[in-house]
Amino acid sequence: MNIPFSSFVPMEQELNKELKAAFDRVLDASWYIDGREDHAFEKAFAEYCGVKHCVGCGNGLDALVLSLKALGIGKGDRVIVPSNTFIATVLAVTYAGAVPVFVEPDIRTFNIDPNRIEETLRTSDGTTIKAIIPVHLYGQPCNMDPIMELAKQYGLSVIEDCAQAHGARYKGKRIGSFGDVSGFSFYPGKNLGALGDSGAIVTDSICIAEKVKALGNYGSDYKYHHIYQGQNSRLDELQAAFLSVKLPVLDKMNAERRRIADRYLNEISNPEIVLPYVPEYAEPVWHIFAVRCKRRAELEQYLNGKGIGTNKHYPTPIHKQECYREYTKLSLPIAEEISETELSIPMYYGMTDEEIEYIVEALNSFK
Ligand SMILES: *Cc1c(COP(=O)(O)O)cnc(C)c1O
Repeated sequence: MNIPFSSFVPMEQELNKELKAAFDRVLDASWYIDGREDHAFEKAFAEYCGVKHCVGCGNGLDALVLSLKALGIGKGDRVIVPSNTFIATVLAVTYAGAVPVFVEPDIRTFNIDPNRIEETLRTSDGTTIKAIIPVHLYGQPCNMDPIMELAKQYGLSVIEDCAQAHGARYKGKRIGSFGDVSGFSFYPGKNLGALGDSGAIVTDSICIAEKVKALGNYGSDYKYHHIYQGQNSRLDELQAAFLSVKLPVLDKMNAERRRIADRYLNEISNPEIVLPYVPEYAEPVWHIFAVRCKRRAELEQYLNGKGIGTNKHYPTPIHKQECYREYTKLSLPIAEEISETELSIPMYYGMTDEEIEYIVEALNSFK
């Protein structure tokens, strides 16, 4: 058998006609930026997330940068981020001119640990810490109640990084609806992906929504009138039209991921392999199914040898990346352990039962 780590094919086959119709619709309308398609998708996505406003932008990184800028976070400010995440979370902080403060995750959920956030706030010069960016990593919601409580107590803004968790719920409520503003990516590989780059912010605040909109459109509030030194980061009509095809089937596609994850969780039993832990409060959407194994390199080779695609999220922790040399001396043992032991196994809409069984069987027979 040959099972890729990820595949768009089953989804594309199912939506082929509708995606082509969406393309035709945009071409026929002959309008490519900030039009009907953008507005329709923004409205639908805000509703889906259970918030008042959504503003499209160019990608997930920009969604976070624009969020920080809209909140007035920049030079001289520090922002709490998880020590294990995709680099965009941290790049957003440094792009905005602020400084990241790394906080370790709970190794069982991979998500930022509220107890350690508290410890950081208590023991550091709290006055320059202005915000927290919880990342709902691998599609699993962060423990939001204690995070929001701490934010309130210390007067911090919360920007959720929802790039991996479209549709996930915390205590029944959609992620993206907890923070002051939340950033989403619609990179093709995400649970809700466009056919190219794009992203969005969601928020209940009309002020933040308007400021993000202006900041992403050259700082302009109306044509040729510039109130900020903004940037160009807009959602184009074509991507919005594709996203409008995919949003109505997001829950169905997430449910299918959940079905695959449940089978993995129930059927993989090998003392060498640590499965992800799902807390009571969480309804994850399984962007990635991450297992841990002390002998990761061997497991990876073994699975690849059996035709099973794998990936590592992420092989190098942010503080060990060349571009962040200044943090290389930090000791973040949990993030480091995750980056050394984590292995992602196939997870995508359209996997067959035979494929799931083959993967389970392979993992169970690894010695
Ligand atoms: C993908 C991702 C981003 C960035 O999204 P892009 O659209 O690729 O810019 C940000 N944060 C996390 C956690 C991501 O996985």
